Amino acid sequence: MSPELFYFWIAAAGLFVGSFLNVAIYRYPLEGVTVNDPKRSRCPKCEHRLAWYENLPLLSWLIQLGRCRHCSVSISWRYPFVEALTSGLWVLAAWASGGVDAWPLVLVQVLVFSGLVLATFVDFDCMEIPDSVSIGGMVAGPLLSLLVPALHDESWIAIQLSGPEAGGVSRLGSLAASLAGLAVGWGSLFSVGWFGARAFGKEAMGFGDVKLLGAGGAFLGPGGVLLALMLASLLASVAGLLNMGRFYWLVRSRARRRGVAKPVWKALHTARILGRYLPFGPYLAGGIGIVLLSWNDVMELLLRNVP
Ligand SMILES: [Zn+2]
Repeated sequence: MSPELFYFWIAAAGLFVGSFLNVAIYRYPLEGVTVNDPKRSRCPKCEHRLAWYENLPLLSWLIQLGRCRHCSVSISWRYPFVEALTSGLWVLAAWASGGVDAWPLVLVQVLVFSGLVLATFVDFDCMEIPDSVSIGGMVAGPLLSLLVPALHDESWIAIQLSGPEAGGVSRLGSLAASLAGLAVGWGSLFSVGWFGARAFGKEAMGFGDVKLLGAGGAFLGPGGVLLALMLASLLASVAGLLNMGRFYWLVRSRARRRGVAKPVWKALHTARILGRYLPFGPYLAGGIGIVLLSWNDVMELLLRNVP
């Protein structure tokens, strides 16, 4: 298969899986429906059953200019966004893992990225991470590491256990790296939560986050998962500050419109309280995704610069 054709199929498959993820995200909090049942999606406003040509990922939304063909209610830009994002991540993952020749690794990575997209948007909507992603990942990670040892090619533990003469990392080395990563990912966030609860007397960390980082560790190994946690904390701090800034601006501009002078410290205080409740899952997913794409390069850089 030519590389162009390979990436074309990856991009197209990513769009369709993204469309499926939209259904899973939308239906996650709903009672009495599953991802497969009912089979056809409906317009949330007029309940019109969508025909196949109204349900094409990305295209239908663009052609219909973001509206339902029947009642012309506007359809959120998030649907085409999730489809484009999934497709883009699939192509990126395929390219980063070495293209068509490394197809087993590509398959594992696109699976992980799909799980991360699902966890991210469900967490934004429901402040909850689906067990299918977190527990599913903790089970699938070690199994897939055994099947596709290339997943832990750059993991120090895996290399040590494989010995110098083995061409690449051995299955057992890869499994060990995966289990160590799971333990480190799970353990690091669990202890943050445990000490946080002791120190501040409130729950500092959702258990869903702990399981998600455990799952991430099973794919990244112990070093990678710690880097993912650092990146996630950094991303979440930036997002938290931006969120507080947004509330600060809202509070101040509302006070100004009403003609009330609101002291800066009071607006800041309100913004801090309102801006506090951000889910951590999306940032964890972001950290895991970045490390998954770049861990090999990071390790190469470290190995080259550390004598
Ligand atoms: Zn409609």
